[in-house]
Amino acid sequence: MTPENLYIHVPFCNGKCDYCAFYSEAEVKEDFAEQWLKKITEDLYKNDLSVPLKTIYLGGGTPTALPPGILKRVMKLIRSLSLAPDAEITSECNPGSLTPEKAEIIAGTINRVSMGVQSFQKKLLQKIGRRTNPDQVVQTFDLLRNISGIKRIGMDLICALPDQTLKQWEEDLSRAVAFQPEHISAYMLIPEPGTPFTRKYGEEPPLPDELQAEMWELAGDFLESHGMPRYEISNHALPGGECRHNQNVWHGENYLGLGPSACSFDGTNRFTNAAPLSEWLKGKPPEWDIIEPETRRREVFMMGLRTVRGWNRNEFDWQDFLPELQQLETDGLITLSKEVVKPTKQGLLCWNTIAETLI
Ligand code: SF4
Repeated sequence: MTPENLYIHVPFCNGKCDYCAFYSEAEVKEDFAEQWLKKITEDLYKNDLSVPLKTIYLGGGTPTALPPGILKRVMKLIRSLSLAPDAEITSECNPGSLTPEKAEIIAGTINRVSMGVQSFQKKLLQKIGRRTNPDQVVQTFDLLRNISGIKRIGMDLICALPDQTLKQWEEDLSRAVAFQPEHISAYMLIPEPGTPFTRKYGEEPPLPDELQAEMWELAGDFLESHGMPRYEISNHALPGGECRHNQNVWHGENYLGLGPSACSFDGTNRFTNAAPLSEWLKGKPPEWDIIEPETRRREVFMMGLRTVRGWNRNEFDWQDFLPELQQLETDGLITLSKEVVKPTKQGLLCWNTIAETLI
């Protein structure tokens, strides 16, 4: 394919969090990291890289858990690619995984970082099996701003944690805002089957629906009042601080995913790379998700309705979805004009209903 956006999955972490269903190994082994780098490089060059990349997203896993020598070569690989002049190059980062040496390595290549804070409260972090602590957030944020010179830093928070109160959630939002990040993601904890979390707490969300909805409302109101309006169901940013990579993905642009378990979209079909690492390294082929073009069109359309801006008529002609859209408008889930269709606040909260109606 000729990718416009690139996702690189780093399949290593320093331990596993109890709630996590993303694929990653719980330990960074240098020889496996070497093999991973060799294979993502080979896989990358099987594609037509003549179009400058608009965005690169280094996710995982924990990219900053890579050994310094390998992280340096990943940065070199990124810099060797044809990039749009304003290309957004994001790396995920966990508090405590960034040393001053690594902060210098990513400086000048990475221009946006998304930090997995999750909560500032030690007890809540323990309940979800995170080994990071709030002091590490302070140190890592400082390294990112002052050594790496990152101008766009995002913080990820999770709410709807076991026994969490609305007040505790407001405290987390407030502590995050005090760092003056450019972006805050506020996710609801969704218990994933097969994780240590569900073995401990069960598969039902730990908090009742009404409290979860209140937490979602609180995040929107609190962050908006601090100049960071919601631009997607779980994402909030200062004007211009939005994650362009994710916005491009939500609006149907193609993306190439490298690494075990990474997903790609070539504009028509989706495919997911094999996992675990050992199988992917052996060359197990990806799994293709091939569906009718019309179903794919609908899928792309509903993904765009995760965003507050929705769709403009010159980006997507939705004429043939009009009966469903008129019903969603009557139900108060979207607003519809000749030029623009976008979700209401209720539509964002109940996005699953929008998706079910359109598919
Ligand atoms: S650090 Fe992130 S990717 Fe790694 S185990 Fe925890 S939640 Fe999962």
